[in-house]
Amino acid sequence: MSQQQDNLKTHHEVLKLMGSRFEITAISEKEALAVQAVKAGIDEIRRIEKLISSWDPASQTSEVNRQAGIKPVAVDQELFDLINRAKKISTLTDGAFDISYASMDKIWKFDGSMKTLPDPDLVKNSVARIDFKNIMLDPEKGTVFLKEKGMKIGFGAIGKGYAANKAKSIMLSLGIQNGLVNAGGDLIAWGKKADGSDWQIGIANPKDKEGIFSWLTINEMAVVTSGDYERFVMFDGKRYAHIIDPRTGYPVSETKSVTIICPDAELADALATSVFVLGEKQGLNLINQLKGIECLIVNKDDEIKTSDNLDLNYYRKK
Ligand code: ADP
Ligand code: MG
Repeated sequence: MSQQQDNLKTHHEVLKLMGSRFEITAISEKEALAVQAVKAGIDEIRRIEKLISSWDPASQTSEVNRQAGIKPVAVDQELFDLINRAKKISTLTDGAFDISYASMDKIWKFDGSMKTLPDPDLVKNSVARIDFKNIMLDPEKGTVFLKEKGMKIGFGAIGKGYAANKAKSIMLSLGIQNGLVNAGGDLIAWGKKADGSDWQIGIANPKDKEGIFSWLTINEMAVVTSGDYERFVMFDGKRYAHIIDPRTGYPVSETKSVTIICPDAELADALATSVFVLGEKQGLNLINQLKGIECLIVNKDDEIKTSDNLDLNYYRKK
């Protein structure tokens, strides 16, 4: 190890943000800078949460939802752009990803409060309100308008990835050349660890939460997993996960988890949810067409399926 690497200090904080466990790490020769950068990253994530949260009645997102079917709402350029990118992913995935899924969130609850399956008619009525094409963006006026009454948008499948990207940017701009932001399992890493080695990410096995069966060496990469092993409800022995198929209004249960690896955490977040909805065959098909984006799927039989160019290391238990 060089002298310089020996002098590197790691500052690390773990805290709850956006309803999830975040871990923020900055590595620098100057410890004070690392501390300052982690704080800046945390402030940035809090700022984004205020803008995009659909639970916080004071957010611009909540105002857009309240005015659904009534009138367009002027929003910050940042929110406008995020919605615009989300709509592009909807187009790319043929509607498997759709931030207007959120009209279903009164029907499906994954916090333990649901005791029976929802009335199929109710599901049918709500699913009719999901359609990204009815999220109207006016670039001149900088407004968002949800065309139908009862429509609602939510950033549950893209917000943590976006926040991770932005926290990384702000830390980089402060001079942090090596760092990691883990946004509730959605992570982005840049540079190297303090000892000069590469960041490595274990891929957890849904059968055994503590066990790690494979890992990836990641350079300037985001690794994001959508899985049904944390938030789900069970009815009649069937598992309903918190990712909704916008075409049916029902949770998807075919796949156990989807991991996306690419340089952009926001894109990885959105695509992990998309592939989860699309399922193994269609999902891998999509990812194999996208340059620089790789994918790992654990299917319902606990088999691992990967995209064509994924370079995975396996850990063998002794
Ligand atoms: P996790 O929260 O486990 O990281 P995801 O990134 O896949 O998982 O996000 C799941 C969340 O995204 C759900 O809790 C919900 O808020 C939202 N969501 C569910 N279905 C969809 C969908 N088809 N398109 C966009 N967002 C969705
Ligand atoms: Mg996601």
